[in-house]
Amino acid sequence: MELVLPRNYARKVWRAVVEFELLEDGDRVLVGFSGGKDSSFLLYAMRVLQKVAPFRFELGAIHVDLGFEKPSDVPLLEDYCRQLNVPLIVRKSQIADIALRRSRNNPCSSCAYFRRAVVNETAAFHGYNKVAYAHHHDDAVETFLMSQLYSGKIQTFLPKSYLDKTDITVIRPLVYLREAEIKEFIETLSYVPMPSPCPVQGKTYRHKVKDLIGSLTRENPFVYTNLAAAVRADAVADLWPPAASREEMREKHQRIMRPAAGDGSPHGE
Ligand code: SF4
Repeated sequence: MELVLPRNYARKVWRAVVEFELLEDGDRVLVGFSGGKDSSFLLYAMRVLQKVAPFRFELGAIHVDLGFEKPSDVPLLEDYCRQLNVPLIVRKSQIADIALRRSRNNPCSSCAYFRRAVVNETAAFHGYNKVAYAHHHDDAVETFLMSQLYSGKIQTFLPKSYLDKTDITVIRPLVYLREAEIKEFIETLSYVPMPSPCPVQGKTYRHKVKDLIGSLTRENPFVYTNLAAAVRADAVADLWPPAASREEMREKHQRIMRPAAGDGSPHGE
């Protein structure tokens, strides 16, 4: 397969690599490869990067078969990796069963948790020091809003994070690419991404949030860019202080009710 990435794509990937210091000489990077469009693009982009980067790093791919009724199309994934000349590890699992048993309506957090555990454990076992995931810009913005709506937290995933339990660094080189750009590029390849075998695909909280952002952005094009700007740590303006504990509330209450020195009145009047 000919490895060519259009300049605007390469610039965005390289920007993330440089800004967040994602790669360095001697890295061994295991790419999470679901077979979908995003991870297929990431694998391709990492191979291009491997060719042009002024330092050397090794690449591998891992596919975790989640154990849905319809199994992963492993020959398709193997063929794509063969064309890219990237070694592929396939791990079978029962994650779908466990996640759907825990919550039929919202299996995603358990599913993602166990899948990450398999990937990290495999990376550590095979001597990879980094794991790369294909989360893109839209994912970051959607996760940011989802966290507020469903977890009461202002957060999203980081472009780079270190996991001290496994001594693995997680990197996300696609954080500056929009989902539509990735889709457009993948359609130019002969590879047809593997359809997701997941029964809740398209019915998740993420999809609700994606649709919400999409419809608000159609009304006002600044909605997406404003949300994206709010992802940065320096965008935090006025937020309430943390909720006071019972003890703190008792102290505050006593302080406010204590008579002002000398006049005996609770209000100091
Ligand atoms: S959509 Fe399906 S495969 Fe993806 S995280 Fe949720 S349960 Fe897992």
